Amino acid sequence: MATTKKAAKAASKGLEDLFLDGLKDLYYAEKKILKALPKMAKGAESEEVTAAFEKHRMETEGHVDRLEEVFDKFGKPARGKTCPAIDGIIEEGSEMLEEYSGAPALDAGLVGAAQSVEHYEIARYGTLIAWAEELGKSDVVELLRATLKEEVATDEALTKLGESGVNERAMQEAA
Ligand code: FE
Ligand code: FE
Repeated sequence: MATTKKAAKAASKGLEDLFLDGLKDLYYAEKKILKALPKMAKGAESEEVTAAFEKHRMETEGHVDRLEEVFDKFGKPARGKTCPAIDGIIEEGSEMLEEYSGAPALDAGLVGAAQSVEHYEIARYGTLIAWAEELGKSDVVELLRATLKEEVATDEALTKLGESGVNERAMQEAA
């Protein structure tokens, strides 16, 4: 019976399977983020917000490369797996672009949407690092930590950007 077969397969799944599934999710997510960032950069009103998104787009290219290296360390081909969580977060960012186009609150909304993306990434990288440590893959841990550092720095930069006037501008009445 199919269910028995499925149960047998599930019974043999261990931490490495869990890690590789998470890796595929994150690979899909990083590629999706890579496509979304230029749209957000283009849509932003202020130069600072555009610059922040463009800077992180370049870093994100490196994140994709590092994940490909991680697949390689496990002797697996780099392959993504649809991650509905990031699809939803990015969908919200697109809605922000449409619904707040031309509004004083647009940039504050975009910064908030981008921070949701960073928090997703911080959570996922943190989990994969813990599992890679458990699996004894120190070279993989190092690669993932390098990206995590950039995600955390981006999140902090976005917080500062919001506080530096973006949120205040959102308080203005639309002209
Ligand atoms: Fe990333
Ligand atoms: Fe990021």
